[in-house]
Amino acid sequence: MKIAVLPGDGIGTEIVAEAVKVLHALDLKFEMEEALVGGAAYEAHGHPLPESTLKLAKASDAILFGAVGDWKYDKLDRPLRPEQAILGLRKNLGLFANFRPAICYEQLVGASSLKPELISGLDILIIRELTGDIYFGQPRGRRVATDGHFPGAEEAFDTMRYSRPEIERIAHVAFQAARKRSKKVTSVDKSNVLETFQFWKDVVTEVHKEYPDVALDHMYVDNAAMQLVKEPKKFDVVVTGNMFGDILSDEASMLTGSIGMLPSASLNSNNQGLYEPSHGSAPDIAGKGIANPLATILSAAMMLRFSLNQAASADRIETAVKSVLASGLRTVDIWSEGTQKVSTREMGEAVVKAITKSTKS
Ligand code: NAD
Repeated sequence: MKIAVLPGDGIGTEIVAEAVKVLHALDLKFEMEEALVGGAAYEAHGHPLPESTLKLAKASDAILFGAVGDWKYDKLDRPLRPEQAILGLRKNLGLFANFRPAICYEQLVGASSLKPELISGLDILIIRELTGDIYFGQPRGRRVATDGHFPGAEEAFDTMRYSRPEIERIAHVAFQAARKRSKKVTSVDKSNVLETFQFWKDVVTEVHKEYPDVALDHMYVDNAAMQLVKEPKKFDVVVTGNMFGDILSDEASMLTGSIGMLPSASLNSNNQGLYEPSHGSAPDIAGKGIANPLATILSAAMMLRFSLNQAASADRIETAVKSVLASGLRTVDIWSEGTQKVSTREMGEAVVKAITKSTKS
């Protein structure tokens, strides 16, 4: 089991270190190799995704990724910005299917900004298409952009585009995932305004004919954004495009109490995957030792389940996280009155301890 470990920037290094400790606490043998990515790679090699990092990622069964980015790189020409590394990895490895489960742990019901009865027992799965849509559209409007900005330009544009095979394969992923859950898919689009998403809706409807046992409904993205906070439990599997999925999954993260709790998996058709927390590099708290490592630790659990065929070990990590939360330990983002504030490292070590204890018992 070869894992490429790419911590990246900001809190990326802090949270990945904890996830690596958790993986080492399992009685499994891994080959782990670390490489630079994002701003750290730009500083060392002049590129956010150096050839050596891409080579390592391609040669691994799975990638454990932290986060990339820092505001100090905002002036760089776009292809050199740290965020391009993650887009490059997705494109080069064909990681088209992004799974973002939003689960509200019972112990964190009080940490959400929504009423407890709305989110207690919440368990939804957002499936975001990851290698198409406006983030990869051609042509893109780049005018007079010497420093990543557009001094004196009159317009800028990006192009939204999806091909039939791109929509078909993500629709199949969603219907198959729904078969293992409550057999219900909501496809989110903006077909009332955008041609691309009328096409999306038509293709998803066609693919649905192969899954008569799964219920399908369609919802406009603006309505979905509203329903997610009004009545989130009415969703089960949500499938949508790259940009809408980006926004809705961040919104869904707050249903779970904090963006620091939301893991993600990005898979290609060979089940090779990149596993990362749904949040970014959080430059505002980087270096303070207060970031929540649980999204990354839970991403490592998804890695064991989806790419490394180690479901029992994935269960052990998830059980350990639940027991740590039940014991009242909280990083600052999920802290509430009556619970105990801990650092990033203390949270990681508590999960390790819970795993070790489960081995002994
Ligand atoms: P962010 O997700 O980094 O942070 C948003 C807010 O959530 C901040 O207040 C931050 O402190 C908080 N937060 C995030 N993760 C947390 C954690 N684990 N524990 C506690 N609090 C946490 O988003 P942003 O501020 O919009 O972006 C910062 C940088 O990250 C930008 O450069 C952006 O491009 C980049 N980014 C990278 C990725 C990625 O690597 N996949 C994803 C999103 C954003």
